[in-house]
Amino acid sequence: MAKSYFEAYTACLTEIQKQSSHSPITLIAVSKTKPYETIRQAYLEGIRHFGENYVPEAIEKFSQLFTEFPAARDEVVLHHLGPLQSGTVRKLVGFFSYTHGVSSLSALQELQKRAEKEKKKIGFFLQWNFTGEERKQGWSLEGFRSKENEVRNLESEFLSWEGFMIMGPSSGDPIETKQVFAQAKRIRDKEYPKKTLSMGMSGDFLLAAKYGSNWVRIGSAIFGERL
Ligand SMILES: *Cc1c(COP(=O)(O)O)cnc(C)c1O
Repeated sequence: MAKSYFEAYTACLTEIQKQSSHSPITLIAVSKTKPYETIRQAYLEGIRHFGENYVPEAIEKFSQLFTEFPAARDEVVLHHLGPLQSGTVRKLVGFFSYTHGVSSLSALQELQKRAEKEKKKIGFFLQWNFTGEERKQGWSLEGFRSKENEVRNLESEFLSWEGFMIMGPSSGDPIETKQVFAQAKRIRDKEYPKKTLSMGMSGDFLLAAKYGSNWVRIGSAIFGERL
């Protein structure tokens, strides 16, 4: 019989913990593009942290889960991944607990307004982009520093700045990937010791774990390739 999602999840988590000497670490099971039945099965097996990129798709699937299993609403923690867009902020607040990949100050301002208005908590991760890859969102270090105070001023009872989200380079080259993760760790350790790091996907999670990731986002290594 094929491995269950929970076994694949646990196998990844065990590998991650072997690579790292820090805590806490949360493994987020990225279920984007996967059908409702997959999520339902993963939930029944015991997975609780899920990641999704497309807000309407996530709402559709997880509303169905919460209808079928009312307890899931309190048990499941939903992570929004990828760029935060002003247009989806309204739907995101109250449904997701975290958003990983904030790279626009105006979207963050919208998020703050919405969270205050609805009195719902949400945590966010700012995306760093050290490689300057244009296909990737995120702040350069200089860009981030120039906005840091504004970001800090948006924090409130309902909006918490959890840390930084980093994507490995598109090349997938291990040496380059290592440099990116190591740089993020170095800056975090020295200047933002209270912030956590969201880094690592199916292709690079062992390196991410080695360099201090606290939130690892894995899709295909748990649920299989996306079509
Ligand atoms: C899709 C996605 C993941 C998971 O990717 P896999 O390679 O399937 O593990 C992680 N993080 C983000 C931001 C994603 O968009």
